[in-house]
Amino acid sequence: MTTPTKLVLATHNAKKLAELRRLAADQNLPFEIVGLDDVTAYPEPAETERSFEGNALLKARACVAATGLPALADDSGIAVDLLNGMPGVRSARWAGAGATDQANLDLLIAQLADTDPAERTARFVCAVAYVAPDGTEHVLRETMEGTLVSEPRGGNGFGYDPIFVAEGHTRTNAELSPAEKDAISHRGKAVRAMLTWLVDQRPAERQEG
Ligand code: IMP
Repeated sequence: MTTPTKLVLATHNAKKLAELRRLAADQNLPFEIVGLDDVTAYPEPAETERSFEGNALLKARACVAATGLPALADDSGIAVDLLNGMPGVRSARWAGAGATDQANLDLLIAQLADTDPAERTARFVCAVAYVAPDGTEHVLRETMEGTLVSEPRGGNGFGYDPIFVAEGHTRTNAELSPAEKDAISHRGKAVRAMLTWLVDQRPAERQEG
């Protein structure tokens, strides 16, 4: 049996790593998934691009350049129509550099005060980029459409989840179980689509497995 190639998920986020490992196991992927804590440390690039795709790509490229291994990276955020698509790529830093999730959430709620609930449409966006040492690059994006409520509800999830109600649902994302959210989320859909693409690139390994 050959040792599977390592695939680095360019994140220190243990939850993202665990989620990817679960999804990869389901797909019988010919990769051993490792995180940034498992490779030699390197300076991670600032998220300077204006698109989710651009930021995901620059994180994956930096990882490949430093480790010599194929890499996956993601970038995500929330786009609010009444704010012309903001916070967008600034979602993690909406209330300023180093802002907490709570501060970002409070600011967004304040910005939407006195707006018509029917107009508070928004979407979560996630771009996932795969980059290989041979120069192969593949990037894709998925979204989760919904509306924003003015009073936060629920204790699950993170970030803007307590005010986001996904299309076809009545509970906020923070009131959904992790499995319920993964099934419909921007990140769940993007990661599953990327893993499907990766499996399709490696038909020989799949047949041997
Ligand atoms: P990142 O992809 O980890 O850099 O996350 C960007 C930011 O977007 C997070 O800090 C959250 O504020 C927001 N965000 C992204 N995905 C979600 C989600 O699934 N729920 C709530 N907030 C999210």
